[in-house]
Amino acid sequence: MYLYNSASRKRELFTPNHEDVVKMYTCGPTVYHYAHIGNLRTYIMEDVLEKALRYSGYNVKRVMNITDVGHLASDADTGEDKMLKGAKRENKSVMDIAKFYTDAFFADCAKLNIKIPDVVEPATNCIAEYIHIVETLLEKGSAYLAGGNVYFDTSTLEKYYIFNDHNEEDLAVGVRDSVEEDANKRNKNDFVLWFTKSKFEDQALKWDSPWGVGYPGWHIECSGISMKHLGDDLDIHCGGIDNAFPHHTNEIAQSESFLGHKWCNYWFHVHHLNTDTGKMSKSKGEFLTVSLLESKGYDPMAYRLFCLQSHYRRNLVFSWENLDNAVVAYDKLIARIAALVPGDGVDEAALASLKERFAEALNNDLNTAVAVTAVYDALKARTTADTKLAALASFDTVLSLNLLSAAEKKRADAAAATAAEETDPVIDGLIAQRKEAKKAKNFAEADRIRDELKAMGIEITDTPQGTKWKRI
Ligand code: AMP
Ligand code: ZN
Repeated sequence: MYLYNSASRKRELFTPNHEDVVKMYTCGPTVYHYAHIGNLRTYIMEDVLEKALRYSGYNVKRVMNITDVGHLASDADTGEDKMLKGAKRENKSVMDIAKFYTDAFFADCAKLNIKIPDVVEPATNCIAEYIHIVETLLEKGSAYLAGGNVYFDTSTLEKYYIFNDHNEEDLAVGVRDSVEEDANKRNKNDFVLWFTKSKFEDQALKWDSPWGVGYPGWHIECSGISMKHLGDDLDIHCGGIDNAFPHHTNEIAQSESFLGHKWCNYWFHVHHLNTDTGKMSKSKGEFLTVSLLESKGYDPMAYRLFCLQSHYRRNLVFSWENLDNAVVAYDKLIARIAALVPGDGVDEAALASLKERFAEALNNDLNTAVAVTAVYDALKARTTADTKLAALASFDTVLSLNLLSAAEKKRADAAAATAAEETDPVIDGLIAQRKEAKKAKNFAEADRIRDELKAMGIEITDTPQGTKWKRI
């Protein structure tokens, strides 16, 4: 598989560190509000990456954190903890907010067929791991204490900036609220590893530490959780492009200084979902959720298809019109699958060639738009319905668009509608006679019966499920 690596700014052949497992880490949601459909674009594409790796035969172990402490409203370490902001907004405790929005996040994932990673770890579960890393960084001289907080000293690094191929606009979501200088920092990029002091003294969750009662910084959470479950190396780290700086840059700085060697080989960044007024962001207040789409009658699968139709390294513009187009495409696709009549046997050679084309698209830096085209190619292929259905079942282990189950439902709905249709012995009798005439190749008689029915005010249509009639 070829993947674009944001750290090298090149498309690279993916080669995992270990033969038996691909170690994959994903930055999880900050659970102070609902995930918006922009966040979920990132989780959909990461889900497809995991499934594509499995499709290629890799065994994947994927870990994701839940940020329930330490993610401040400004990435410059000066804002209020977002969890506390959420708790104040809703007059609830931080723990209640975390539980409510974690559950809401997984409910959204279920609707979008996003698989839950093998390990999901709330940041508040791993305080001992963060303290150990911070202690080691202090011992190594990579961190310092100032004004009650522990800071990472970026001047100890040979190279700090890793991902500089994104523009200022992409970083704008990262630097959410107004940025204030922290006078304790020795260098402008230094960042907090452990807080005991901030101007927001009402921080709800605090733990004992060698430096006083306090709480971890956001960046240390991902390093600590990744190392706890995946050890001291990582194959792929993913997140939205706004996480590249400063979050991932800081993760690399502290992890590699702690470990004394390279930490992660491939960095996979999903670009943003934008609206016509700019980036969709939780802190902007008004944003679109999966529930909102559903309340307007949209099937979450249409949103998933909308995301898959574009490449993860391009910004994607959301508009209702674009989503409507995806709805039409999805409905047509499902109707075509529903019209396939199984039972004619699988042509293994044809199936292998369809699968090969699909895998090729995924292996080309996760080209999901071309992978979706492979679905249409399978439907168009000169082969049996069983081969097509087998190909679609295989593709859907990655695309997760409910291709077969939605088609099955469509067929069942159509059958139920037929069963509920009006019956009439005279009309049904004439239709049966017409069928016999057609069978006997007596087309003149078949046409005569059609005309007779028309004269009676009955219009007939031939469908794969038989001849239907309605009064005109
Ligand atoms: P958060 O819950 O804010 O920590 O973000 C969760 C994930 O969504 C992160 O990987 C972000 O980089 C990503 N993200 C944030 N805004 C957008 C957006 N507008 N489009 C796509 N991904 C986003
Ligand atoms: Zn992270």
